[in-house]
Amino acid sequence: MGISVSETVRVAMLGGTFDPVHLGHLRSAVELVDALGLDRVHMIPAHQPPLREAPGVPSHERLTLLQHGIGDTPRLVADDREIRRDGPSYSADTLASLRAEYGESARLVMALGHDAFLKLADWHQPQRLFELAHLVVIARPDHHQPLPHTLGELVAGREVDDPAALFATPAGGLLRLSLPTRMAISATEVRQRLCHGGSVRYLLPEAVERRIMALGLYRHER
Ligand code: ATP
Repeated sequence: MGISVSETVRVAMLGGTFDPVHLGHLRSAVELVDALGLDRVHMIPAHQPPLREAPGVPSHERLTLLQHGIGDTPRLVADDREIRRDGPSYSADTLASLRAEYGESARLVMALGHDAFLKLADWHQPQRLFELAHLVVIARPDHHQPLPHTLGELVAGREVDDPAALFATPAGGLLRLSLPTRMAISATEVRQRLCHGGSVRYLLPEAVERRIMALGLYRHER
């Protein structure tokens, strides 16, 4: 895919429902590249999110919106690998496929917002996530809850203070990052505004807004 698989290649996965993608996702991905010196961020829409209700907009359309949102942004990739897989979209399987692609010595990161991190202990094979990748947790303005006990046990001894310490090994660490721009935008709020005919200008990339409007998506939220 254009990047040589060298010993130190640094790649992140940012998974999500992306229902729809918004500027909070995209700005975080760009700032993640800068903060961690990443070669690439794979933004990967879940085909069937395991822990939430099936999204009203099908995965292929959420992927198309993501492609419109990324446009020609360097180092960000709209990745369809979960859409090409049947069944629930487990991140552990997605990371295994990225690991197979980039090799054992690649530095692989699973990036997620603090809200998603809080539920990590309920995910499928949470220990395996750390065998495959480092976890990087992005602070979100409206999400400050403390870690549940089971999550504390899962991450005990893994936390490091900076990217250099994280990338000393290919996987297994935890880094909490406060990126420079924290945006209090959520897809839930975007969907609600669209449902009520409200404006979503400047919450989404223009190309994403145009496509949502042209297709009439999210107008009749269930
Ligand atoms: P919803 O409101 O439908 O739950 P969301 O806005 O949280 O959606 P997701 O697709 O679930 O979006 O999020 C994908 C990933 O991006 C998650 O790890 C989430 O924590 C993170 N994320 C979402 N919005 C932001 C934001 N504004 N800033 C930083 N990270 C975000």
